[in-house]
Amino acid sequence: MKFPRNTTLDQLKENFEVVFCSQGPTQRGWEGHYLECPECNELVQRSGCQGCKCGNIFIDDGMFRVVVENGEEEKVNTYYAYKKQQ
Ligand SMILES: [Zn+2]
Repeated sequence: MKFPRNTTLDQLKENFEVVFCSQGPTQRGWEGHYLECPECNELVQRSGCQGCKCGNIFIDDGMFRVVVENGEEEKVNTYYAYKKQQ
């Protein structure tokens, strides 16, 4: 099972172990494998170059850049996702 680029928390939990990481960026910057948009609730993988469907969150991992369009970074929950143990 490949990690999806865009998903929802419920969908991700069906196929992977999901662990809450942080609210907003940590002191070391953004952590976690997925960022959850507080506007459209879509989870966006923190890799590659992509955004959520409403355009509030944009990720450009090559540039180590995360943009939260509405400025409310502290409302963005981040999660780790792991392959489930068989
Ligand atoms: Zn969004």
